[in-house]
Amino acid sequence: MGTVDLQTWAEGFDGTTRVVGVIGWPVRHSLSPPMQNAALAAVGRNWVYVPFAVAPEHVGDCMAAVRALDLVGLNVTIPHKAAVLAYMDDLGEEARALGVVNTIVNREGRLTGHSTDGEGFLRSLREIGEDVAGRDVCLIGAGGSARAVALAVCRAGARRLTVVNRTAGKAEALAEHLQPLAANTTLKALGLTTPEAEAAVRGAMVVIDSTAVGMYPHHDTAPVVPEEWLHAGQVVCDLTYNPRDTVLLQAARRQNAGTLDGTGMLIHQGALALELWTGEKAPVEVMRAALLAALARQQAVTGGKSQAP
Ligand code: NAP
Repeated sequence: MGTVDLQTWAEGFDGTTRVVGVIGWPVRHSLSPPMQNAALAAVGRNWVYVPFAVAPEHVGDCMAAVRALDLVGLNVTIPHKAAVLAYMDDLGEEARALGVVNTIVNREGRLTGHSTDGEGFLRSLREIGEDVAGRDVCLIGAGGSARAVALAVCRAGARRLTVVNRTAGKAEALAEHLQPLAANTTLKALGLTTPEAEAAVRGAMVVIDSTAVGMYPHHDTAPVVPEEWLHAGQVVCDLTYNPRDTVLLQAARRQNAGTLDGTGMLIHQGALALELWTGEKAPVEVMRAALLAALARQQAVTGGKSQAP
């Protein structure tokens, strides 16, 4: 936390202040507290958002504490996104389909688990005037973030989704999992080094990199796909936000493709969580300013280390 006037800070709380937060293990690099507290101040809620470092063996106790302490809710980050599922009373559609929860809403002791990552990505894409509806999309990577984004891309009506991954079996498993949920999207899975992968990337109008290739501290590396595969007319999205300007996005710009960095998804998954807790529209620009400032501070202090969300 930066320097604050103690009296001003203390006057911000009273007997009606409520608590919301994020659990992870570790959680110290989370950018959500500055982003969400700025948002809470902007919407005039007498709430405070705090990080909780919760060891895996304490996830059950933590869910009991949400009820006992009447927390507004929680964000959930690595490694607890799947583990909290068992403690939910209800699940949103995405959380049910994905088997992971990144947002918990507590209504009088009844816990509902949601997943806002995929919709967060879509909102960030729409913010730059792009969409996946009716388009051919190539998703590189098949990890946790890929699953959420892939489901959202199918639900938003992509014509074709090709999942390309270093380990081809994981791309196949993701495509198989999505098949029953993706009535209007043609799904395909490929290994990253196959000749078909090049055709899939070249042929896609939206290319999404969900791998950690190019993430700090390994930011000075080759992009996940050769630069020559990218071209004008495409929009190239990188979910990595640290650094914002990854080697892939630099390559895409040199090839005159459009680009989207990972901060938009981070902001919008948080905005969607806030909307679930408050029932009101989130102050997205306030959240963006707070997140970008916190990211810049973190990069200045640590040289860049951070974790989602
Ligand atoms: P994850 O579950 O560990 O998945 C990592 C993926 O990257 C896997 O598909 C893995 O392939 C692939 N990969 C790793 N190293 C590779 C390499 N050298 N070459 C090719 N592929 C490689 O990770 P995640 O949680 O999805 O996170 C991935 C990235 O997304 C991170 O940079 C994270 O910060 C970012 N992220 C951003 C947001 C946001 O809101 N913007 C949210 C979540 C995550 P294999 O299957 O072959 O191992």
